[in-house]
Amino acid sequence: MGVGSTRREPGEVRVHVDGRELSLSNLDKVLYPAAGFTKAQVVDYYARVGPWMLPHLAGRVVTMSRYPDGVDGPSFFEKRCPGHRPAWVATARVGDGEGYEGCLVADLPSLVWAANLAALELHTPQARADEPDRPTSVVFDLDPGPPAGVLECCRVALDLRALLEAVGLIAVVKTSGGKGLHVTVPLHTRTTAEETKAFARAAGQLLARREPDRVTVAMRRDARPGKVFVDWSQNDRHKTTVCAYSLRAGSRPAVSTPVSWDEVAGALRDGDPGVLVFEAPEVLERVGRLGDLAADALDEEQELPDLA
Ligand code: ATP
Ligand code: MN
Repeated sequence: MGVGSTRREPGEVRVHVDGRELSLSNLDKVLYPAAGFTKAQVVDYYARVGPWMLPHLAGRVVTMSRYPDGVDGPSFFEKRCPGHRPAWVATARVGDGEGYEGCLVADLPSLVWAANLAALELHTPQARADEPDRPTSVVFDLDPGPPAGVLECCRVALDLRALLEAVGLIAVVKTSGGKGLHVTVPLHTRTTAEETKAFARAAGQLLARREPDRVTVAMRRDARPGKVFVDWSQNDRHKTTVCAYSLRAGSRPAVSTPVSWDEVAGALRDGDPGVLVFEAPEVLERVGRLGDLAADALDEEQELPDLA
């Protein structure tokens, strides 16, 4: 991939990534204190996972979740592309009228640049910037209400998968890198966010009606204890979901990791939530061995049936 470096002044390293020169700072800073995971390791992770992550970022404006002093320090969501960006970082206009310029992370140098901003998490909308009214997929954000956890999400995800299969749709699944799972139904056909939202809500309602003790589509937090909340509203055009392969800003450098349906079923069968927790080094090992388990999300063309 062509990453070379020379040391300049203390705390700063000039690197070349795919022909672009950029300056990295404070690489020794520990961003995940509980894991001793440094900014250098964050940058290295993104540089290595880039070939698998970039297709998922392509054409979408990112919302960066930045942690300049690490996961225990203050953080902020940044939708506007920082004004001090290098000229080669591509941007796209978001919104009507005033709007703003969002960053497109279109290549490896841009991804390394974002990592150097301590943008630990990269979040993307369901639609690409050039067609903001056409989401490329439906997302089901499965949120466990304690004491429910990821295993309860696995059960609901498998039921959801069966329901989707019954109407001829395939879906991919990833861990959020936090508490739950994200199930994605690729579309890449003419669909609006109103339609994806309605579809996700209808599918969630079917699951909730079947198993009201396990599943809810109610927005109220007090409706969730012990249940899995199927958050259909994540399909709103203004919302984002953490991108596949993004780090999360938890205590350890966990990653939102694409997994196979067999892994989801295996975790549930064995009652072992730990097998669905993946940290940066393991994710790099997985993509080398398994490739991109979310590749179908990138180009599978499907049309939504009418569930309502
Ligand atoms: P978990 O599995 O722990 O729920 P998650 O990433 O799904 O992790 P959610 O709280 O369910 O987290 O939120 C879903 C998505 O909504 C996030 O991935 C993120 O992209 C976006 N999001 C959540 N909170 C905010 C926020 N305060 N500002 C901007 N985007 C947010
Ligand atoms: Mn969630």
